[in-house]
Amino acid sequence: MTSKIKLHFLGTADAIPSERRNHLAVLLNYEGENILFDCGEGTQRQMRRAKLNPCKITKILISHWHGDHVLGLAGLLSTLSLSGYNKTLNIYGPRGFKRNFEEMVRLFHFEKNYKINVEEVSGKFFENENFYLEATSADHTIPCNSYNFVKKATIRIDKDKLKRYKIKEGPHLQEIKKGKDIVYEGKKYKAKDLTFKEEDKKISFIVDTRYKKELIEFAKDSDLIMAESTFSAKLEKEAHEKMHLTSKQAAEIAKKSKSKRLVLVHLSARYEKNPKQILEEAKEVFKDTIIVKDLDVLEV
Ligand SMILES: [Zn+2]
Ligand SMILES: [Zn+2]
Repeated sequence: MTSKIKLHFLGTADAIPSERRNHLAVLLNYEGENILFDCGEGTQRQMRRAKLNPCKITKILISHWHGDHVLGLAGLLSTLSLSGYNKTLNIYGPRGFKRNFEEMVRLFHFEKNYKINVEEVSGKFFENENFYLEATSADHTIPCNSYNFVKKATIRIDKDKLKRYKIKEGPHLQEIKKGKDIVYEGKKYKAKDLTFKEEDKKISFIVDTRYKKELIEFAKDSDLIMAESTFSAKLEKEAHEKMHLTSKQAAEIAKKSKSKRLVLVHLSARYEKNPKQILEEAKEVFKDTIIVKDLDVLEV
């Protein structure tokens, strides 16, 4: 069975949350990994509403130190302390992030009884056998990162077939995974009959930035891009001044990077009553664009 990447859109608003949209936060779940992208105000309550356990968070990736992306962090860290979080929490951010983070911890005086590892990152900054994470600089009013989560292509063992052939767990499974045929209880089994290939998957998170062509290369061949769409294409000049993307620019990044899907996030309350305007503009450039509601879940 293929394991899916699940994206929980906890908050999709821009700087000012609205009645329907919370500050930005997206939780990516892949097997035992729960990676939180940004942590705007109210994120932990949104997690409760989504029936997600904050103690299962493994990593937090912060784009930048503007309130709508970090105001929920102190509260969440405090809750983890009170809830017996017992892992090392890895938090990543852009240049200058560490100092801001340390100031925040100092100001709140919460009892911290677990380990936090904070890193300022760019380029590939985490890798294990299943996936890697990378960051690149956006073009915003303060240092800001865009991120990629890339699940590697992998050979998986077909557990249904193991059951069918009554093959139990053991070191022989590692051999099969390496593509080697095995002899199990006197019978020969071909590796290719007991495994299947899972394709690689890429998710890109691009928020708070001016249009920048390097982002096209960064998001190349993404299966899904979450991109900010703070302004309508009609307000391109304003978007440039405030260092944000328009709906059309987000769509251009998706199109030129040959990505498969685009999800518009970081939506302005200005379009609360009529988000279709933003959506239609983007769709003119890139057909596979959607707008999500808070607490929507997508699978990749
Ligand atoms: Zn923002
Ligand atoms: Zn910002």
